[in-house]
Amino acid sequence: MSCDYVALANPGVQTLQPYLAGKPVSELERELGISQIVKLASNENPLGLSQQVKLAIDKEISQGSRYPDSNGHYLKSVLSERHNVAAGQITLGNGSNDVLEIIARTFLLPDHEVIFSQYAFCVYPLVSQAIGARLIEVPAKNWGNDLNAIFQAITDKTKMIFIANPNNPTGTWLTDKELKSFLVKVPSHIIVVVDEAYSEYVIDGSIPNSVEWLSDFENLIVTRTFSKAYGLASLRIGYSISSEIICGLLNRVRQPFNVNSFALAAAIAVLDDEQYLQQSISVNQQGMQQLIESCKQLDLSFIASVGNFLSIDMGVNAQPIYQKLLHKGVIVRPLANYKMPNHLRVSIGLSLENKKYISAITEILN
Ligand SMILES: *Cc1c(COP(=O)(O)O)cnc(C)c1O
Repeated sequence: MSCDYVALANPGVQTLQPYLAGKPVSELERELGISQIVKLASNENPLGLSQQVKLAIDKEISQGSRYPDSNGHYLKSVLSERHNVAAGQITLGNGSNDVLEIIARTFLLPDHEVIFSQYAFCVYPLVSQAIGARLIEVPAKNWGNDLNAIFQAITDKTKMIFIANPNNPTGTWLTDKELKSFLVKVPSHIIVVVDEAYSEYVIDGSIPNSVEWLSDFENLIVTRTFSKAYGLASLRIGYSISSEIICGLLNRVRQPFNVNSFALAAAIAVLDDEQYLQQSISVNQQGMQQLIESCKQLDLSFIASVGNFLSIDMGVNAQPIYQKLLHKGVIVRPLANYKMPNHLRVSIGLSLENKKYISAITEILN
């Protein structure tokens, strides 16, 4: 007897689209037999690991057969000082993706509604639908979160709202005035997750550090990551800051050893490497100017971004252009899965990497 296993799956999972990752360099090497590939597809830090991180990982190897510290005590104490919060407000995760999933599993049931914006980071619908919760996607305004429309979408079934600030894949942002006046209005039984994965790159003072508002809003959870400006994407480490009560709930759901020892040691080391962060920010600002200049040269419009990436409108279906870029050894991110078929998202790399993308796209479009 055979069995329809798809029909056996949780209804949310039956129609769930798996996450589409940026193409790995090794995969393109295998497929096309080319080398010297430039990957500008996953908003990774082009500087590579901080030297201090490499030393910290080396030091950790001698203890590699031991379980990690389940509570991440030392990292939490550094973070608590950094953010001026109690260690008991911090939840560590295997990437902030893990924290987002823990948050969903802690609060959501199948009859709950979860609100997020059109063009929001695709992990929000993914973790919510996996539980069977109802997805409420609110049309974007100028490619970003339309907070009024999100507020209007609240019903008595609404349990959670996800907001990325800045947003990925569009790079759009909300100012502190906009976000704060929204948070003031949202009923306190609705969890608001503000995902600040790119906040270290933001130099515009009008964009909030929502951590400062935690004492005003008990329903607020702010997530951060070490994958972007801190350059630890492969190690998988991120965290949330919330009230201690919510943190305690997340801690019940969290796998006991969800963050490995190397990631813990690396995060502590990179937090101490102020130069690395400053260099990340300055390389990003220079690269952003390079990419913006190339768009102007090529007469391409783009979505203004405060992150480490730029989403560029190719004016036509971008899939063939994406393919041609691959053949020239440049991996960027097509956004068809975000229903932005004409856009390519280009992560900002080192100057030479950006140049390689710029000459490839120039050749393709001319
Ligand atoms: C990259 C990214 C994350 C971080 O993912 P990690 O799991 O921490 O690597 C979270 N949110 C957004 C919006 C992102 O773009």
